[in-house]
Amino acid sequence: MALDKYQSMRDFEKTAEPSGKDDAPRSEHERSGKPRFVVQEHHATALHWDFRLEKDGVLVSWAVPRGIPPDPRVNHLAVHTEDHPLSYFNYEGQIPKGEYGGGKVILWDQGTYETEKFNDVPPDGPAKGGEVIVTLHGSKIEGRYALIQTDGKNWLAHRMKDQQRPQVGDLA
Ligand code: MN
Repeated sequence: MALDKYQSMRDFEKTAEPSGKDDAPRSEHERSGKPRFVVQEHHATALHWDFRLEKDGVLVSWAVPRGIPPDPRVNHLAVHTEDHPLSYFNYEGQIPKGEYGGGKVILWDQGTYETEKFNDVPPDGPAKGGEVIVTLHGSKIEGRYALIQTDGKNWLAHRMKDQQRPQVGDLA
C-alpha cells in the first residue's frame, strides 16, 4: 500500500498528523480533473518546504530545502520523500519534538495543477528517469515547473523558461 511507509514512520498517539487511514481513495478535486498541490513550510531540524502533488489518491511529495525556485536560472534540490495521505493537504501544526519531522508545519501555498507529464518513481527504489512537468496555479506560485530525477531520491525542481510574462517591449 502506498501509505505503508508514511504510517510506519509515525506514532499517531504522539503526533496530530493525519494517519490517512480513513481517506477516500481520491478527492473530489482529483476526480473532477483539478488535482491540487500544497507547499508546507516545515521548521524541522533543517528548514525546508514540502511540495506535494495530489495523484492517484495520495500526495506525492518532495522536501525542498530552498523552496520552490522562482527563477528559471536557478534549480533547487528536491528530495523525493514518502507519499503522504490526502488528508495531509490542510495539515498545519506542531509535530512534537523527538517525533519524526519534529517542528512546526505552516501552510505556505495551495492551489491546483495541470499535468503535462507524470512519471513518478518510488524514492527508495532503483528506478531511474523520474520526470514530472506541471503547471501550478496557487496564490504564491503560478507557472510551469519540472521536477527531474537526477540520482535516486534526489531530484531537481526547475521553473520552465517559456513563461508568459509581460516583457519590456510589450509596454511600448
Ligand atoms: Mn517535511
